[in-house]
Amino acid sequence: MLDARSARFATLKFSEFYRSAHITVDRIGGKEFGFGDFDNTIAKRHIGFRDAKTLNAYLAAAVPASVSFSSAFYKDPEGRPMESKGWLGSELVFDLDASDLHLPCQLAHGRSWVCQTCLDSVKREAFKLVDDFLVPDFAIPKSAIRINFSGNRGYHIHVADERFYPLKTKEREQITGYITARGINMKAFFPTLGERAVDEESGRPRNKALTGPRPDDPGWGGKLARGVVSALNSGEEALVSLNVDKTTARKLVRNRANVIMGITMGNWDKVNIEHKADFWTGVLNGMAVGQTSSIDKNVTSGTEHLIRLPGTVHPGTGLMAKPVADLGKFDPMKESQLFAKGAVRVKIDKAPELGIGGETFGPFEKETKELPTAVALYMMLKRVAVLA
Ligand SMILES: [Zn+2]
Repeated sequence: MLDARSARFATLKFSEFYRSAHITVDRIGGKEFGFGDFDNTIAKRHIGFRDAKTLNAYLAAAVPASVSFSSAFYKDPEGRPMESKGWLGSELVFDLDASDLHLPCQLAHGRSWVCQTCLDSVKREAFKLVDDFLVPDFAIPKSAIRINFSGNRGYHIHVADERFYPLKTKEREQITGYITARGINMKAFFPTLGERAVDEESGRPRNKALTGPRPDDPGWGGKLARGVVSALNSGEEALVSLNVDKTTARKLVRNRANVIMGITMGNWDKVNIEHKADFWTGVLNGMAVGQTSSIDKNVTSGTEHLIRLPGTVHPGTGLMAKPVADLGKFDPMKESQLFAKGAVRVKIDKAPELGIGGETFGPFEKETKELPTAVALYMMLKRVAVLA
């Protein structure tokens, strides 16, 4: 639980923010809202607002620590139970979180903290989702894709494309299955995978030549072929980012021209690779989007899920859940920073290095320090510091 003094201090700051905030919500009259405190994201739900003015007045008066809204539209968002709301459809929403990526840096700083590597990695996942899947494979116009920094460790991606609104859970599961490459049968792309033949000359058994997808194949087959060719052209690092070990990456790059020519013809046997099935499955997983199955289930496939409202403050960081205009240039720890004024004395237990507002602080251990308000608040809400 967040200690009472930190909660009071944070509420005071949030109150300053909501008194001058102007948050807008598309089709607000059909949206369900949920509010929570510093320990529970949703403590109450089934709340509706007829317009943005009423919502903003409520936020300024009640100062909830956590504000969420539905990806769904309803006839009556306040109706209970859920069935009586009159579901009209749901936006398609994805939730990408650095803590799901199992990065080596997280062993050092813990999964709840974020460093620049975490933020860069999760941004890459967001680019992958939009540029490799939503736009080319689902023909979603970029103008319908809204990217929001979650306010903590990742991005929420909302698709406001009416074609997806009527989809039920089963159909949404198929979409997440596709983008996360879950349950893909590699034999469908590599029919000779794991099959043995008898060598005509020596009479000894050997692996059958590996035939596989070509770059112009539809779906995941073509995606895999194009992705490997593009990584080969970019060099070793690109292959390593697709789960290829350094030695094999070097071998593949050295034989680049030959390997690319092979793949173009559907011949994936230009370089000898051990444990082919595991190897190419690993590469395919490297191209898939890193969203865990529990998030898929709750956020993307669940049509009744509530997700953080863009423009509100995150109760675990004091940063804004910020709509992103240009993802490439977006610096979350700078552009979503609130409470830039003033300084606060805090007693820090143990905090890894923290970059906020373009400056770096810490690491700290058993120290009392005066820090900029945003930095002190971040540490208090991450439960690593208390007011001194
Ligand atoms: Zn990290």
